[in-house]
Amino acid sequence: MTGSRLWKVAVDAPLSEPLTYNFSEDLQRGQLVNVPLGRRKTKGLVLGEVFEKPEFEIKSIDSIDNEYEPLPDHFVKWLEWLATYYIHPIGQVVQSAFPPLRKTEKQRQSKRPPVIPQMAQETPPELTPEQAASFETISQHKNFSTHLLFGVTGSGKTEVYLRLLEKVLAEGKRGIVLVPEISLTPQLVQRFARRFGDKIAALHSQLTDRERTNQWWDVVEGRKSILIGARSALFCPVPNLGLIIVDEEHEPSFKQDEKLKYNGRDAAVMLGKIVGCPVILGSATPSLETWKNATEGRYHLHYLKNRVANRSMPEIEVVDLRQQKADDDQQKLIVEKYSHLPFWLSPTLYERMRETLERGDQSALFLNRRGVAQMVVCPACGHTRECPNCDISLTLHAHSHLICHYCDYHENFKVKCPDCKEGELEAIGLGTELLETDLTRLFPGKKVTRADRDEIQSRADLEEMIAQMESGEIDILVGTQMIAKGLDFPKLKLVGLVLADVGFNLPDFRATERSFQLITQMSGRSGRHVKEGESPGAVIIQTFNCEHDSITFARNHDFEGFAKHELQMRAALNYPPCGRLVSFRIQGIHLGKVEETAGLLARRAHALKQQYSQQYSSIEVLGPAEAALAKLRGQFRYHLLIKSSQNSVVNPFSRQVLGDQSWVPSGVKILIDIDPMSLL
Ligand code: ADP
Ligand code: ZN
Repeated sequence: MTGSRLWKVAVDAPLSEPLTYNFSEDLQRGQLVNVPLGRRKTKGLVLGEVFEKPEFEIKSIDSIDNEYEPLPDHFVKWLEWLATYYIHPIGQVVQSAFPPLRKTEKQRQSKRPPVIPQMAQETPPELTPEQAASFETISQHKNFSTHLLFGVTGSGKTEVYLRLLEKVLAEGKRGIVLVPEISLTPQLVQRFARRFGDKIAALHSQLTDRERTNQWWDVVEGRKSILIGARSALFCPVPNLGLIIVDEEHEPSFKQDEKLKYNGRDAAVMLGKIVGCPVILGSATPSLETWKNATEGRYHLHYLKNRVANRSMPEIEVVDLRQQKADDDQQKLIVEKYSHLPFWLSPTLYERMRETLERGDQSALFLNRRGVAQMVVCPACGHTRECPNCDISLTLHAHSHLICHYCDYHENFKVKCPDCKEGELEAIGLGTELLETDLTRLFPGKKVTRADRDEIQSRADLEEMIAQMESGEIDILVGTQMIAKGLDFPKLKLVGLVLADVGFNLPDFRATERSFQLITQMSGRSGRHVKEGESPGAVIIQTFNCEHDSITFARNHDFEGFAKHELQMRAALNYPPCGRLVSFRIQGIHLGKVEETAGLLARRAHALKQQYSQQYSSIEVLGPAEAALAKLRGQFRYHLLIKSSQNSVVNPFSRQVLGDQSWVPSGVKILIDIDPMSLL
């Protein structure tokens, strides 16, 4: 064929390598094209020209997709990095770089409110000396460099981001601001809109496909210069990028836990590196990964040690739930006085709530468990109701039905034990729904509102809750981690952690770090606007484990002490960030097959390690073992972990262990997770 050239194309299919096609016209790397694949038609991204003719038959590219200009080269490089690093089919990675719908010329009238609200412009406050120092130092960097903005809760990190963005815009460049989906609240978007007006675009999960497509084009065609979004916003090829900000960089939700299991924070740093622009990571509780990079000099470290306007940090008090026994007369009187309290509420927390309510201020109680009770058990025979699809007990909701928190399986709650047909099932444990019921009874006339996934299902629900907190209509807010982060309520003066122990014993090496972060972040919601001279916000932590590391360091606002201590533990075991981890999950509906495949995978790993004993001497192979969630949604789960103190060998080793997967029996799937965030 004369005049026809060969092209490497990443096609939308689960193939580890791009395919070769021919095409007579000139093509550019980054161009989206339509290609045949087997008997179907699909999309593909041109990665480059091929000069060696392969042995097999070559098909032709059907046509160029003229809707899109070729993606910028740096952006294609970044997509290639994602595919390589996370060991994911390149053709499936590149699909995320395009909007869900075709562009339309006509903007249809939508009844929905605009994605970005119109706000009156505000004049920026004068920076505090700490903010000014961070801003000055960071803004001297024009090329790739990574900065950790380590600022306590309420220290004004967002104001520093706003100033940096202002500067970038003045230089004719653009910025990306990544935030966890949950904090992409109207509060945050409005704050940016007040400063930058209609220069803002946003991408998040509550947008329709049409809104998402329009926002994408607004950014790509240069009508908007700042893109705020959840992790997937990184996949929008922002032209002339000058700054990337990742707020709350420690948040586990930056990690996508399906398909391409990328970490938005790490991918952001890599994008900054490839594009050549600064990357800012902000947090009051940095991840240990980032902290290690910052203290070892790979990232620049900037501190905001104080809250703005001399507002004080909240005072944290720990209530030991073990010391509730009455052994003298005085104690007995106290016990009697508070005998009307529900079992989960200590007199200390109760009295603080009363005082807070009397002053007309708000309280928030945090418990990371939904429902009324974690499990129902038959006292006669010990039977517990478990999910038929998953290996966990069902949670009681509204005293009327049982729900699986993993697959959403529902059944009606019947009191009579279905197993022994004699006993009556009893509810054990507690959840936010129980808290709400008890508080409504305990504080009649006060407005108690619950914020968890059962109660808040849409952005509108969340907005309504926020508005009611801001107006002071709500007296007591009860919630899960939905209320722990990012929110800024002036009248919220008391925060109670009902049972800090939830999460301490999860079989995950990050359990302590997670608990520390949650306690600190939740505490950080308290007393954010107290004036000078006013008493600070209060935090009450109820726990059975007062000496737990996450509590002792959090109560002293001592992140650095915590990090030092926790890093020693990680180093002793080569756990991240003192080593790298890859998890393989083997799953399928036949337990025998899953077990067998897990064994096979482990043998491949051991054989590989032996074969290249020098190169792979630092590799540890752990397992295979049943996953902590041994069955989920009808699938049995095993996992195998690969660990090494030597960063660079983990990826090639994992790739070789997996091979082309032709050895994996049908009906079994192996999912690879590089730098996993959760090992359940
Ligand atoms: P963080 O993100 O560090 O928790 P925020 O950026 O939300 O803190 O700031 C906390 C509060 O302080 C916000 O209400 C913000 O408007 C206000 N604020 C920030 N910087 C200043 C400043 N320099 N002067 C006065 N108020 C400020
Ligand atoms: Zn289930």
